[in-house]
Amino acid sequence: MNLSETIRLEGIQRRYRQGEAELDILRGLDFTLHPGEAVALVAPSGTGKSTLLHIAGLLERPDAGEVVIGGRPTSKLSDAERTQIRRTDIGFVYQFHHLLPEFSALENVMLPQLINGLERREAQNRAQDLLGWLGLPDRVQHRPNELSGGEQQRVAIARAVANAPRVLLADEPTGNLDVVTADSVFESLFRLIKATGLSALIATHNLDLASRMDRRITLRDGLAVET
Ligand code: ADP
Ligand code: MG
Repeated sequence: MNLSETIRLEGIQRRYRQGEAELDILRGLDFTLHPGEAVALVAPSGTGKSTLLHIAGLLERPDAGEVVIGGRPTSKLSDAERTQIRRTDIGFVYQFHHLLPEFSALENVMLPQLINGLERREAQNRAQDLLGWLGLPDRVQHRPNELSGGEQQRVAIARAVANAPRVLLADEPTGNLDVVTADSVFESLFRLIKATGLSALIATHNLDLASRMDRRITLRDGLAVET
């Protein structure tokens, strides 16, 4: 395992067809996410932030280029192997929480752990700890629709890190929240990242939040550029 990087993107190309037109979204993009760093991805809508996160998180395959995770090239791995890496090494947070509505907050955070083979009691303890850490100790038995938007995102963050991934990929995680709530959720997220030594790549439109992270990149002509 290569300890100087968690995710390395090499020469990533992605093209979409829209009717007659071809859109070259990523044009040979290189980017390295180092251990323990939190990087903001700030770029206008439609420039390829979500595409980049999906490719980095092995949810989508690029047309060309390599995604190296923990020193391991992933392009030739089977879907099952990619799924396994996604399950153990990568956590995702989206703009909309995508929590399972029929389960409690606690159960939503337990589920990925149970799928990963943990004992019920261990999963429950860890879920309880994480939710407490994220400021929700008293809300764990509530279902998502009984929680506020900020609380829902806190549960989604807890779920994303439930299996102690090395990398957190977040796609506008506070984009759906009012400014004050966004700020407090982001603060918790940032604290969690720093306390656990996670690496994180977070797409956001909030320049104030981005300024608090270790590094900022944008997308320009299909490439990642430091700002
Ligand atoms: P961002 O997250 O920065 O707003 P996206 O990565 O979602 O940008 O999309 C970048 C561009 O690629 C947009 O123009 C979008 O319409 C297009 N695009 C994204 N996914 C697809 C797809 N599956 N098929 C066709 N076009 C797509
Ligand atoms: Mg997007």
